[in-house]
Amino acid sequence: MIKNEYQWCSWCYRKATHRLVKRNYLTRNEYICSSCGNFAVQCRYCQNMATFKPSTKKAKGFINSRKENWASELCAEHDGTIADFEKLNNRLNDLADYESIFKRTKWNLAKTGKIAVGAVAGCSIICPATYLAAPGIASALGAAGFLGAASTGTAISTLSGAALTSASLAALGPGGVAGGIAVVSAVGAALGAAQGAVVSNSYFGAIKDFKIIKVKDGVGPSLIFINGFLSQKNQDSSDWVSAVSEKYTTNPYYYVTWESGSLYKMGNLMGKGVGGTAFKKYITKLMKQGSRSFVKKLNPLSLASTISEIIGNPWHISMVKAQMTGVLLADLIARTNNIDGFVLMGHSLGARVIYYLLEALSTKNISPINDVYLLGGAVDRKDIDGWEKALKAVNGNLINCYSSNDNTLKFLYQGANALVSRPIGLGDIEVIDNKLINKDTTSIIAGHMKYKEIFDKILREI
Ligand SMILES: [Zn+2]
Ligand SMILES: [Zn+2]
Repeated sequence: MIKNEYQWCSWCYRKATHRLVKRNYLTRNEYICSSCGNFAVQCRYCQNMATFKPSTKKAKGFINSRKENWASELCAEHDGTIADFEKLNNRLNDLADYESIFKRTKWNLAKTGKIAVGAVAGCSIICPATYLAAPGIASALGAAGFLGAASTGTAISTLSGAALTSASLAALGPGGVAGGIAVVSAVGAALGAAQGAVVSNSYFGAIKDFKIIKVKDGVGPSLIFINGFLSQKNQDSSDWVSAVSEKYTTNPYYYVTWESGSLYKMGNLMGKGVGGTAFKKYITKLMKQGSRSFVKKLNPLSLASTISEIIGNPWHISMVKAQMTGVLLADLIARTNNIDGFVLMGHSLGARVIYYLLEALSTKNISPINDVYLLGGAVDRKDIDGWEKALKAVNGNLINCYSSNDNTLKFLYQGANALVSRPIGLGDIEVIDNKLINKDTTSIIAGHMKYKEIFDKILREI
């Protein structure tokens, strides 16, 4: 007797009928998911389906993932990829409820923080480990809907075989990958839905100290504060709050923390003076740690060893973590019900978080972002395509405040990035768009860590 199963699929994250295609006596029965067409077997610990082999077995190039070769023991819940199938499409009534997406109702047997780094066309791609699936990471990302539309306008996710692979490679290609490292984000409808939650679940585990704290309730657009380098160990949002409370008296405020430990370590050294010996020594050490050897390797490694090997030093790791934080926040914002929208404020690497957040949100039809303030931003200003995209996600104004007195950015950002990248914290974002306001605050900003002290003054001028 043939018995089909109506269960969650660890390939497509949908609840679907799984047709029994092969009854086995010593091993588990084989099924095909009616939603995605891939093969599945039942999880060892529950009724959900674990991945078996993809519908077409054509792995070449990158990784012959273990998924290609044998059945996974566990479903995506039990192996820690996601917290809960049922919650992937959940909406949030308040951004501060974000943890509900990551709350585990079942215990997971494998470790969490499932991130992998793959290489595509000479670039390093950071994505959830589950997308290192055959047939090749590029196709897997394309099939999952991460890469949007091909140049022909067709959704890449609807392609298959060679067309899928080449469209995916084109979408990921060196042109679209700044600095040789791409952090994968869900795009369009996937952001704020199931595939977005798969990404968020994995990045959430990899960003230390990620929290969204509601500072105060209120009415009108919600303000979100995002820090970069920290001058104090136990940083809170009080500096932001005192700067904005005159202009935004009634609004709700939120404060995002991420990687506070390393941001403080670097911020503290900078506080001691950019010319200081300790700082110079630190930077010199950072530069020596850099390594570009990673792209030659073809194995998925753990996040810690891989990221530090590709990018080599804490500064670059912070830059990548900022990207991941931006992608994670974009998914959470996209699933939050908020008719009044958001105002984003970011300092230093916090502006980098916002840039990637906006880029991800720009792939949706509607964005909830009103105004954006970037102070001493540590993100490239010459990437015209990127900024045009980011501005698409802004309904009001994007205000970029910079200062030529910012020696931290001059030294650290331009130094560490081998002068190939120019940060927005040192000059105009060179895009023509009437939503964009470039504001030279050199006359009142004496250094990188001085912005929040006189942000109230800047707000009054705008
Ligand atoms: Zn499926
Ligand atoms: Zn399971």
